[in-house]
Amino acid sequence: MQLLDGKILSQKIEQNIAHEVKQLKLVPGLAVILVGHDPASAAYVNMKKKACDRAGFYSVTHEMPEDISQDAIENTIIMMNQNPNINGILIQLPLPSQIDTTKILELVDPSKDVDGFHPYNVGRLTTGLDGFVPCTPLGVMHLLAEYDIDVKGKNCVVVGASNIVGKPMAALLLNANATVEICHIFTDDLKKHTLHADILLVGVGVINLIKEDMVKEGVIIIDIGINRTLDGKLVGDVDFDNVSKKCSYITPVPGGVGPMTIAMLLSNTLKAAKINAKERI
Ligand code: NAD
Repeated sequence: MQLLDGKILSQKIEQNIAHEVKQLKLVPGLAVILVGHDPASAAYVNMKKKACDRAGFYSVTHEMPEDISQDAIENTIIMMNQNPNINGILIQLPLPSQIDTTKILELVDPSKDVDGFHPYNVGRLTTGLDGFVPCTPLGVMHLLAEYDIDVKGKNCVVVGASNIVGKPMAALLLNANATVEICHIFTDDLKKHTLHADILLVGVGVINLIKEDMVKEGVIIIDIGINRTLDGKLVGDVDFDNVSKKCSYITPVPGGVGPMTIAMLLSNTLKAAKINAKERI
């Protein structure tokens, strides 16, 4: 069994980005909207800000109270859409229940949509056109490529079908000519599906969802889940100790997909900044 090390690869990508930023004399700008006081969201935003600092990006976080109005968030997005120093806009999800999240995501200028959540970019991904791709599944594709794992013709089973993880993951795999199956909460007999996976990608949010008897010998596992145990440990969705014995490759949690997500956010923001700089010439 070999670990797919997202920590090392993400550091390498970050260093390359920092180098490119210096060479191009660009200062990519990222704006983040953070609503409320969810500690996990605040921690993610903090990690993203630190990564921006390391890479030489400008970043600004708009912190808003839990009871913020739809109009106030929309006005901030409109301002950032017009701000030439901002190349990427990120809305930290989830937003509180009084907010229409779809409307918020649709208001972000697609050319600054570095999370790839705008329907314009979702459509481009689905049709195999260039655009902004959600950072977590994009990071998974980079990690697979780094270890020379070609998904073409492989049975890829994606467990979890959210708009930010499972669906774009499946679209990327399909675009790379994998045979893709998507499972979710209503899938009957999950094990029947996971057992024939050459590559199993799991992003659900349930500790130990994938057990040893649910995978075949030699499987490649990408564990996208991030869960905290009662004693405060970070774990994925896969029973790592037992399942890893059967794997050819597996991502650890932490240190697998998580750091790749942040590296891809930098990569998408640099891409937006480069497109923007070209348009200004
Ligand atoms: P979500 O709640 O939006 O979606 C969960 C998906 O899992 C749904 O499609 C649901 O149908 C499916 N599901 C739930 N229970 C299931 C079960 N018992 N069997 C099969 N499918 C089931 O969550 P999300 O935002 O997509 O996040 C999923 C996980 O990925 C979470 O643990 C989250 O923390 C993690 N995540 C990690 C990163 C990263 O950078 N590594 C980024 C985003 C999300």
